[in-house]
Amino acid sequence: MVSGDGLSGVAENVSVVGKTRSAEEAGLGRSERVVAVRDNGPLKDTLLKNGFDETTYDMVAGTLRNVLNSTTVPVGARLRILMGPSRTSETLIPHRLSIYFPDPRTGQIKHAATAALTDRGNYVLGLAPAEIEFPEEDTEQINVNNLPSVYRSIWETARKHDIDDATTSRIVAMFAYDIDLTKKISAGDSIEILETQKDADGHQELLYVGLKLGTTTRELFRFRTNDGTVDFYDPGGETGKRFLTRRPVQGGGRLASRFGYRVHPIFKSRRLHTGVDLAAKSGTPIYASGDGVVEKAQWVSGYGKFVMLKHVNGFETGYGHMSRIADGMKPGAKVRQGQIIGYVGSTGNSTGPHLHFEIKVNGRFVDPLSVKLPRDKSLSAQYDAAFKQTIVQVRDLMQREPAPVTVAALN
Ligand SMILES: [Zn+2]
Repeated sequence: MVSGDGLSGVAENVSVVGKTRSAEEAGLGRSERVVAVRDNGPLKDTLLKNGFDETTYDMVAGTLRNVLNSTTVPVGARLRILMGPSRTSETLIPHRLSIYFPDPRTGQIKHAATAALTDRGNYVLGLAPAEIEFPEEDTEQINVNNLPSVYRSIWETARKHDIDDATTSRIVAMFAYDIDLTKKISAGDSIEILETQKDADGHQELLYVGLKLGTTTRELFRFRTNDGTVDFYDPGGETGKRFLTRRPVQGGGRLASRFGYRVHPIFKSRRLHTGVDLAAKSGTPIYASGDGVVEKAQWVSGYGKFVMLKHVNGFETGYGHMSRIADGMKPGAKVRQGQIIGYVGSTGNSTGPHLHFEIKVNGRFVDPLSVKLPRDKSLSAQYDAAFKQTIVQVRDLMQREPAPVTVAALN
């Protein structure tokens, strides 16, 4: 008999979580640019390229004159430009400008001055904004107005709805393969979670998760195969799992630099950046991207404390700049996907704490964020009918009972 039923005898009570909030309320439309000054020269040139017009420049320069000796800025200075809606036109205007200068001796980047737009439409000297870690490359972060990341949103929503942390971890892990969880949520994004009613021990079983981000919805349904293995599959019968994780650091890190040719921040020459830089606080756990065997766990010139893993099918993954390599990482040791192999640091040629993560296929570097990765597992054809039945049951449960349905925003 083919049983393989994820639902029988469970789903008595249902709780669904999901909903939206308006763009207005969420304060969309603000964005922050972080720009590095590349040539010695007037501040004006850089600002005119980054959202200022002559009039706003003159106003801001007039304000800054009180604290800066000159409006010429050195190479390596950083600008943070917060753009937001104008009250009088449809355009975005600078709401805040902060200038940071590198310390000539230590190279450390220090806040020098901030000018901020007031309600009356003029600029005054402002406080330094909340600290950030400066990216190696210029960035623009859209919708900075305190909108949380997808990762944070899932956690906060789950906590609000008394979903236990183990289940939330599982949900986050399932989506982490395919979705950039560090992205900010947008208006209309939502999550739906279906669980069984608590049993005598207070245990609940997760049956379904649907995550809607923008126009795409990812759905995962619980299903048990004949060997007793319980897993989550999309409607096509595939697990969300991948053979390798693309951002193998707790929380996913902040993408500070992509794969490809760039001007190296230290050597100033154009060279291939062989991986991605995922910025995270020093000490953040780094995970094995996939099941494999330790090939190297040692200091490597440039990479600092470095771990390299060998996987099947000619794949290798490398992890650089660690503050510490985890215990037990010796060549030949087996690791499982998700196992902690080290901690984020800034050893070797590095300008700040981040994980340099690279993937090689048959000895050649590939872009970790876009390389095609084999799916880990899909449901075999013998389960087609039973799995379809499960999907129908879940959808029915979600629509049938209005009473136990809870609705909440993903934020
Ligand atoms: Zn790197």
